Amino acid sequence: MPPLLPGKIDTLFTHCHLAAMADASLSVIKEAALAVTGKTISWVGSQKDLPDDITPRCREIIDCNNRWILPGFVDCHTHLVWGGSRSNEFEMRLAGATYQEISQVGGGIFATVNATRNASSDALFTLAAKRVDTLLKQGITTLEIKSGYGLTLETELKLLAVIRRLEETFPLHIAATFLGAHALPPEFTGNPDGYIDLVTRTMLPAVKAQGIATAVDVFCEHLAFSLDQTRRVFETAKHLGLNIKLHAEQLSDSNGAELAAQFNALSCDHLEYLSLSGARAMARHHVTAVLLPGAFYFLKETQKPPVATFRNLKIPMAVSTDLNPGSSPVHSMTLILNMACLLFDLTCEEALLGATINGARALGLDHSKGSLEAGKDADLVVWDIESPSDLCYLAGLTPIEQVMIRGKDIATAKGCCF
Ligand SMILES: [Zn+2]
Repeated sequence: MPPLLPGKIDTLFTHCHLAAMADASLSVIKEAALAVTGKTISWVGSQKDLPDDITPRCREIIDCNNRWILPGFVDCHTHLVWGGSRSNEFEMRLAGATYQEISQVGGGIFATVNATRNASSDALFTLAAKRVDTLLKQGITTLEIKSGYGLTLETELKLLAVIRRLEETFPLHIAATFLGAHALPPEFTGNPDGYIDLVTRTMLPAVKAQGIATAVDVFCEHLAFSLDQTRRVFETAKHLGLNIKLHAEQLSDSNGAELAAQFNALSCDHLEYLSLSGARAMARHHVTAVLLPGAFYFLKETQKPPVATFRNLKIPMAVSTDLNPGSSPVHSMTLILNMACLLFDLTCEEALLGATINGARALGLDHSKGSLEAGKDADLVVWDIESPSDLCYLAGLTPIEQVMIRGKDIATAKGCCF
């Protein structure tokens, strides 16, 4: 039996179908109703269980006319604050240029680092705000954004301040992650340990003091930082009480996932080259696997993450856009859902769980986000679809009727925003 209906209801959605994403399944309730009181979901159940005298208790009743309601998407891995453009590199790649040739003419990640360092906070905010607005219109109601294109104390703090301003400006919840150890900046060529000294002794304490990030991430890979350097960042992060995430085993097996698991990381992300022992460590420490099919697609990779192992070991799988200028300039969650199914062999149910409750888990927010359950934040999207699998099948289409975040109606199909 659903919990008792509260005395006061701000919004009652009726005649809807729900994919509630509770209990690690779609948790479909056909012919359903959902009540919102204040910022939270106060009741979820069957339409037939609504009492006859419900109307006077509701400030607003929305007849959904058999449309579907799902939790708002949680995009748990993005790098969407950056300056400059890399479209010229895309054309070079299409013409046959290698990564090395692109780097030699000033391209690659350092093109973005230079442009980001040289951009003002206002300019970065304006660029990033357009991207956040686009994601919001894709039904994303919770978003993670990483720093990592500054790579100096001043510019990393500048990026995190832009992320905070985005959080203050937009209705969706934005989680900020410090990714100072994203790439070795040119000033530290040949001295990666010196840069890690800067990250651990100066940057991390400043980030903690300003309270502008809740998690710390590292790119552990042969072309970025070693296992020992990653461990040093994690030890400091742990000491400062920050959550831990890791870009792990994207291009090779560096045993990063095993290390991250030892530090009780929230998530390990990418994981194409994850070993069985790494997966077992993740399972033991309840680490979420974040799958990023956009980067796999854009880089034309061939090694898939071990999805069958994740299933066997019951490791939750999240999926995310990985929105960034270098390897995943993908601004669409529904396109990512389609890629997760076709490129990584996820079922539609797994992909949708990945973009909702498991995305929330990867951010440590599953107590309040990612599913339609009484007591959780009223973050939801009303979709004009025949079934939830349409969101995976109709690649890139976003037939949104309404978005609600924390009980507030953000936009409707009839409004200006969609
Ligand atoms: Zn990333």
